[in-house]
Parts: sequence; structure tokens; C-alpha cells
Amino acid sequence: MSKIKVRTRIVEIDGDEMTRIMWKMVKEKLLFPFLDMDLDYYDLHLSKRDETDDQITRDAAEAIKKYGVGVKCATITPDKSRVEEYNLKQMWKSPNGTIRAMLDGTVFRSPILVKNVKPAVKNWVKPIIIGRHAYGDVYKNTEMAIPGPGKAEIVFTPAGGGEAQRLTVQEFDSPGVLQGIHNLDSSIRSFAQACFTFAYDQKIDLWFSVKDTISKTYDARFREIFADEYEQNWREKFKEANLIYFFTLIDDAVARVMKDEGGFLWACKNYDGDVMSDMVASAFGSLAMMTSVLVSPHGYFEYEAAHGTVQKHYYKHQAGEKTSTNSTAIIFAWTGCLKKRGELDGTPDVVEFAQKLEESTIETIESGIMTGDIARISEPKPDSPVGTEEFIDAIALKLQKKM
Ligand code: NAP
Ligand code: MG
Repeated sequence: MSKIKVRTRIVEIDGDEMTRIMWKMVKEKLLFPFLDMDLDYYDLHLSKRDETDDQITRDAAEAIKKYGVGVKCATITPDKSRVEEYNLKQMWKSPNGTIRAMLDGTVFRSPILVKNVKPAVKNWVKPIIIGRHAYGDVYKNTEMAIPGPGKAEIVFTPAGGGEAQRLTVQEFDSPGVLQGIHNLDSSIRSFAQACFTFAYDQKIDLWFSVKDTISKTYDARFREIFADEYEQNWREKFKEANLIYFFTLIDDAVARVMKDEGGFLWACKNYDGDVMSDMVASAFGSLAMMTSVLVSPHGYFEYEAAHGTVQKHYYKHQAGEKTSTNSTAIIFAWTGCLKKRGELDGTPDVVEFAQKLEESTIETIESGIMTGDIARISEPKPDSPVGTEEFIDAIALKLQKKM
């Protein structure tokens, strides 16, 4: 059998712990036997980031800018205990945060559906994809504790001189708390562009929701920018593709989502996206069945699993115990990346391979071969869950038959 040629280089970003173990297995058993591909490899193992003063992370982001498409393994975001565990020079920042900032991207998370895992919301039959704005609001806030009576104001001082604008927030007559948040038109605009681009690309409707009845300037700005982007660049395209842009208040959106069958992109402000993506993920089953893609308005794509490095399983693996860790989201990160690469390169055989690999993975789970995380919630339950490697071997067997 001759291998399928991937025309352009793919940026491969390796990571940590259990996901690093699965990453290698996926490449060796599910990709390399079938594909002839050139990889631009960046090792973001925590010790490598430490060794290079995190330059390797910035290099990886630059490579995605150069080639357009990358795939990333989960990485440790160090905290105090990791600084000790890996004897780090400093507590390096989240690689995902660094890459996201460099690519100016929006993250879209999509659940992978299988017949034997029923969503907690029984009418959800299609994926609900969440697009989370990843800049500003309470994630970049300034806040203070108010010790007692006094006046709190917000003040804007124009850079070029001129009179400052001030507004009273509250006349405190007892202790309390105070918070200042902001956002930028440019960031909201690129979020809107990423959402319309992604929905159009996937041929799904776009929902957007804020609370502009209460927040008549701040949230209203989000609504205006989305509406403007739609009118200027997407109304015609959406109409032709039979897609809908639907705006509603956030509380109404939440109520509708519960009654809908799914199959749309839900664009959320930063906090709403943080909360709703975890709710949607857990209602669809398992974190290991959730893929994630970072889409930049400049046309860069980075695919990954939504879960972390699965630390607890890794320690078991290191202790020589058998693990049952689910590689589905990692596999889908690779297939997402290959499909996009094939689309951009005009190589349908690469896209077709990615589809076959996705089918093989889903069919494996639906045939009752699954890891512990899904075995717990599957109907019917399998006799016993399979091990990490056995699961990948079973997929490889199905895939070979399709090739
Ligand atoms: P996690 O790695 O997502 O794992 C949390 C728990 O979810 C696991 O203990 C496991 O539950 C279950 N789980 C997640 N993925 C699974 C899979 N593929 N198969 C089976 N079960 C799975 O989150 P964490 O333990 O909070 O974080 C570990 C490290 O990951 C941290 O250092 C964090 O910084 C990093 N992280 C990285 C990313 C990223 O790079 N995108 C994202 C999040 C976290 P059971 O133990 O109950 O089986
Ligand atoms: Mg969250």
C-alpha cells in the first residue's frame, strides 16, 4: 500500500504526561503507517520550556503563523507544585495563553458524539459548539475592597490631553467591593470574525448572546459589532448557504439551548463561555470526547484535545500500572488538523483519510471497545474497559480494513 502524501508541513507541538504517551502511540499506530507527512516538531515538554526560557513556545506559535495549521498535545501549566516537581527556573505561563495571544485566536470546543453515550440533555442529538471570547472582561479586571463609606468613580483620562470623563459607580455608606473591567473594539471584532468564519466553514448556524438590556453600553457594543460584521461580510454568504445568524439575550439563549437539538455554534462572552463550555462538555459525556480548535482571523488553525495532561493516569503509568486513558480527543485533534491541511492544499485523499480515522474511532467505541471514562456512562455497559494502548490498537485494526 502506498502512503498518502500530505503536501504542506504540519506544525506538531508535543506536550506532557499521559497525553504525551498517547500522542506517540497515535502517531506510530494510526498516522505514520498511512501518511507520508513532513512535521515541523516543537517539543513543549515542561523541562524543554524551562531549558529554552519558554522560547520554544513562541517558536511554535511562529511556525503556525508560517505554515497555517498546527496540532498540539496537552501541556502542563506550572503552579507551585510543578515548579518543585520539575525544578523550574520560574513558573512559566500557560503555553496555550501564549500561543493564543500570538495568533489572536478564538477557541471553539466541539463534542464528539457516539451512539452509546447519551447526552444528559436528551434532545441534544447534534454537537453544540462553544466559541469563547478569550480577551478581557473579568479575566483582566482591577478590583478593590472598599473599607467603608466613600465615593467610587470610574475615570477616563484622554491620552492627548483634554478633560477627563468621570462617572460615579456608587456612593458607599458601608464596606463592599468594587471592580473595573474593559474590552477592546478590535478584540470583539476579531472574535466576531472568527465566529462567522467558523460557522460558515462548518455550515452551522451561529448564535450570539449578551445582556444588552442591562448593560446598555458595554454589552451593547458586542451586539453592535457582531451585527455590523454580519451585515458587512456575512449576510449574503449565510443566506446562500442557508445559515442563520441568531442574536438573543443570554438568559433566553440558555433556555433555548436546553430545548434545542444542537448543531450550531454558540458564541459566548469570556465568562459565559468559561461556564457554559464546562456545562455543555459534561452534559455531552466526557472531557476526553471534546476537541478544541483555535481559529485566528488571520487564517491560522491550531487543533488540540480539550482536556489536560491527565496527570493522575500518568503517575499510574509511571508506577507500571495498567491505564485506561481515552485518546479520542487527541485523535480528533489530528484528524481536524489533517482535514484542514488537506482542504487548504487541495488534497482530498488527505481529507478522506482523516474521515476514515474518525469513523474507525467512533465505530470502535460503538462496538463496545472503550476506555474507563466512557465505559462508566455507556449504554449498554461493556464487560470491561480496555487499556490505553489496546483502544488505539483496536482503532488501527478498523482503519487498516478501510484503507
Ligand atoms: P485533566 O488532565 O483534563 O484531567 C482531569 C480528569 O479528567 C482526569 O483525572 C480524568 O479523570 C479525566 N480525564 C481527562 N482526560 C481524560 C482522558 N483522555 N481519558 C480519561 N480520562 C480523562 O485536568 P487536570 O488533571 O486538572 O490537569 C492536569 C494538567 O493538565 C495540569 O498540569 C494542567 O495545567 C494541564 N492542562 C492542560 C491543558 C491544555 O494543554 N490544553 C488543559 C487543561 C489542563 P479520572 O482521574 O477520574 O479518571
Ligand atoms: Mg471553565
